[in-house]
Order: sequence, then C-alpha cells, then structure tokens
Amino acid sequence: MKPVVNQEICIGCGACEGVCPEVFKLDDGKSEVIKLDDYIPFKSKIDQAVDACPVQAISIEE
Ligand code: SF4
Repeated sequence: MKPVVNQEICIGCGACEGVCPEVFKLDDGKSEVIKLDDYIPFKSKIDQAVDACPVQAISIEE
C-alpha cells in the first residue's frame, strides 16, 4: 500500500503532517508523500491522516 496526495485538492492545512510526519511533509503549501520502501509500519497513522484531511485529498493505492 502507498498513500497518495491529490495536489489539486490539497489546501496545505498540515493536518496529515501533524498526524503522521513520518510520511507526510508540507512543501510549498502542499502535502507531499515522503518516499519510503514500506508504508505498512505507518498504516494506522496514515489511516488517521486520511480521516483528518478536511478535503479528502489523501487516498491509498494498493
Ligand atoms: S490534511 Fe489534506 S489538505 Fe491538509 S495538508 Fe494534508 S493532504 Fe493537504
């Protein structure tokens, strides 16, 4: 699994980075997914970030 941020929708609120800074990083007012070999260790925090995003910009690819 891999999280993806839709840059067109992201409003740069920082909620995802606040919940899971290991995976999400604000850059230039948009959230970027940090490149990792394996996202599974952060799965529950990523799920929390999905729920925390006010504009549903984060999706999970299998
Ligand atoms: S929580 Fe959503 S809108 Fe806010 S920075 Fe993250 S992806 Fe963007």
